Amino acid sequence: MSTTSQYHFVRHGEDVSLVMDSPRFRSRLTRFLTRLQETSPFYAERLLDAGVSPTDDPVEALGALPVTTKEEYRNTLYPEALKALDQRPFTADLSSGSTAHCVLRLNAPEDELAEQAVTETVFKRAGMRQGDHFVCLEVGVPEIYDFYFRAARHLGARQTTFLRLTSNYATSVAPLAGLRPNVVLTLPSLMVRAWPHIRSIWTPDTCPVRSFIHMGEALHPELKREIQEAWGCGVYSFYGTTEIGGMGGECDCANGCHFDPEQICPTLQEARPLGDGIYEGEVFLTTLHLHHQAMVKYQVGDVARLDDTPCPCGDPLPRLSFVERTNDSFILTGDKFRYAAILEGLKAVVPAVRFMSIGLEDASEERGNTLMTVSLPEELHGQADKIMEALKFHIFELDSAFHGGFVRFALEFLPPEKFDERKIRKVIDRRKHLGI
Ligand SMILES: [Zn+2]
Repeated sequence: MSTTSQYHFVRHGEDVSLVMDSPRFRSRLTRFLTRLQETSPFYAERLLDAGVSPTDDPVEALGALPVTTKEEYRNTLYPEALKALDQRPFTADLSSGSTAHCVLRLNAPEDELAEQAVTETVFKRAGMRQGDHFVCLEVGVPEIYDFYFRAARHLGARQTTFLRLTSNYATSVAPLAGLRPNVVLTLPSLMVRAWPHIRSIWTPDTCPVRSFIHMGEALHPELKREIQEAWGCGVYSFYGTTEIGGMGGECDCANGCHFDPEQICPTLQEARPLGDGIYEGEVFLTTLHLHHQAMVKYQVGDVARLDDTPCPCGDPLPRLSFVERTNDSFILTGDKFRYAAILEGLKAVVPAVRFMSIGLEDASEERGNTLMTVSLPEELHGQADKIMEALKFHIFELDSAFHGGFVRFALEFLPPEKFDERKIRKVIDRRKHLGI
């Protein structure tokens, strides 16, 4: 911890949280946990079970509460939020990592504005200015990007454009030349495929793009260097997850995403110290900025590094760097998936599926695909058609990646001895550029 930092790491056994060292932060955490206690029977029970009170010592209460899983988010926090919102206006965003059923994240206007404020800070730090033309290159539905456009317009962007990519990258990305954006936002896995078709549109002298912002995944360092050199622009990471929204973004020093622990407070499980003021471990996030469907120590499935050493840019906020997905998770076109969610989706259609292994590899460049091979015990061979159908049509987020042409599926059936549950690797990611 630096002597001038307003933040400090607190230990809860093997875990650490990065909190603000101020009465204001403690009172904000108390208010957040008290509100959860009053509005969420789920968290009220957890506080009771942990034997802690938010008003006694909120930081101790944070340490004592268990993690919140994606399943709890979907099955319990969502209906609780719906009930708590009652007849109030709210927006609903699609959330990721679930099973066959579409999952929603509910935001009251104050939640939406709090999340927008985080996003605006990230965009501003990445160099977005008044008068910019902001372009999102994506495969999802345009409605999602309306949120980013509102943030950009609030910063004074004069034009915002959604450019929908398809698996025919050459054609779908061609309008970029005429659009002449100043700021581009996309996913690294899409940029890998689009890059060969757009790298020569401009030189550093003619390139209108000042900032390239990537989110959802890590960007391969070689691709980052190529973009910086070919376009002469800054490249910035934007960290967040579908359930919590944006969390933080990189500055020009590119040494992690600055974030505000007063908005989203991180806890690291079994944190390893990597130096004075630096820890690494699986990250859980507490969304102090959200009033509805808020979460305590949400398990996003990422291993992250937290760094509270001074940044040369002068921004006093600490930094988070994505290290890798935990060993039962993977990313596909920016969506974060957990092994358990895919297994649950398959089980719903074919109950005999008890375990499997997921292999990911780069498919041909021309097709622009990831090949996802699901390995299953050979006794399930007779149900191959049903399993394939479930992968294609019954797992909500895989559905859009599949129909957008970004993933293909293969099944592999292996002898039962290959499925020793203690030894089986749940996810084997062999992708070179897409895998992280
Ligand atoms: Zn910085």
